[in-house]
Amino acid sequence: MKQYDYLIVGAGLFGAVFAHEMKKQGKRCLVLEKRNHTGGNIYCEKVEDITVHKYGAHIFHTSNERVWNYVNSFCEFNNFINTPMANFEGKLYNLPFNMNTFSQIFGVTTPEEAKAIIEEQRSEIKGEPKNLEEQAISLVGREIYTKLVKGYTEKQWGRDCKDLPAFIIKRLPVRYTYDNNYFNDTYQGIPVNSYNQLIDKLLDGVEVRLNTDFLADKDYYLSLAEKCVYTGTIDGYFDYALGNLDYRSLRFETETLDMQEFQPVAVVNYNERQIPYTRIIEHKHFEFGKQEKTVITREYPANWEKGDEPYYPVNDDRNNALYEQYKALAENEKNVIFGGRLGQYKYFDMDKCIESALEFCEKELSNE
Ligand code: UDP
Repeated sequence: MKQYDYLIVGAGLFGAVFAHEMKKQGKRCLVLEKRNHTGGNIYCEKVEDITVHKYGAHIFHTSNERVWNYVNSFCEFNNFINTPMANFEGKLYNLPFNMNTFSQIFGVTTPEEAKAIIEEQRSEIKGEPKNLEEQAISLVGREIYTKLVKGYTEKQWGRDCKDLPAFIIKRLPVRYTYDNNYFNDTYQGIPVNSYNQLIDKLLDGVEVRLNTDFLADKDYYLSLAEKCVYTGTIDGYFDYALGNLDYRSLRFETETLDMQEFQPVAVVNYNERQIPYTRIIEHKHFEFGKQEKTVITREYPANWEKGDEPYYPVNDDRNNALYEQYKALAENEKNVIFGGRLGQYKYFDMDKCIESALEFCEKELSNE
């Protein structure tokens, strides 16, 4: 009999939920984490008494009542609603695309007028949209595409909108009401005592080894447990045997400023191609902070190279096809479960990640 039932690689949301649920069932779990902290990209740090989202803005939103009740059983959430704005050539526009945006761009006041303009502009797209550019034009017309989508998207992904999958832009609501809520989900908020509380509670009583690189001694670590849950990059697990999958990385520049407020809202996107960052977040606004100083972070998209932190899978045709080949290899690794954004090469939001971890647990337990 081995020392552990489950070796869990990665102390992010997927790994933490899996470990928590399995520990509850009496399983012996060991979590390995490469970084010097748990929580993956939802990890926060306090600066000037402000909770700083160290790896970019994380706003929890879900329509899954089970997931909402689940996270609320570990920590209290505030009533933050994400209402980001877009800065294009010095002017601010509301997001997501709604009547505020349409009246700012087209000068209209009614849904009917907005629809008529968009209907006319989208007529250039014939048939099913084949890529992100066509999808965006068919949702909001060419003018909004040019101002608020093209530059932002191309710098975020480092690719032409014609070479990106349509689904990425479908994440954003389009509404003919004056409603600036970025998400359509039933539930939304940010943990009152930061995401660290959520992770700490999930991992309470679970053995975690920080600063530990599983891939540096894979066979040894695998030998410790009956089964492994791996949440790192799937191509990394196989030592890139079939070639590299593409990821997008990010670089953050964080500054403390001696002023009460830097910008009027938590998130301002910078939608021109020429500005090298995609957005500035002002952390205190996520928790309605009244501190004397403020902390802001500029988010710069970056090419991913081996050794960098991967943030987003690039789900275009080439990468999806390569992922399928890796997935076939993964299916032969009978005692390893691949989970999370990197293990499943999927643009998961936090709620989907939790949902998926809970499903994997149930499947595991029902197979016993
Ligand atoms: N997007 C855009 N303009 C914006 C904000 C978003 O065109 O001002 C598009 C862009 O293609 C982006 C996608 O919507 O990749 C998803 O954006 P979201 O803010 O949901 O991404 P995340 O917060 O996950 O980085």
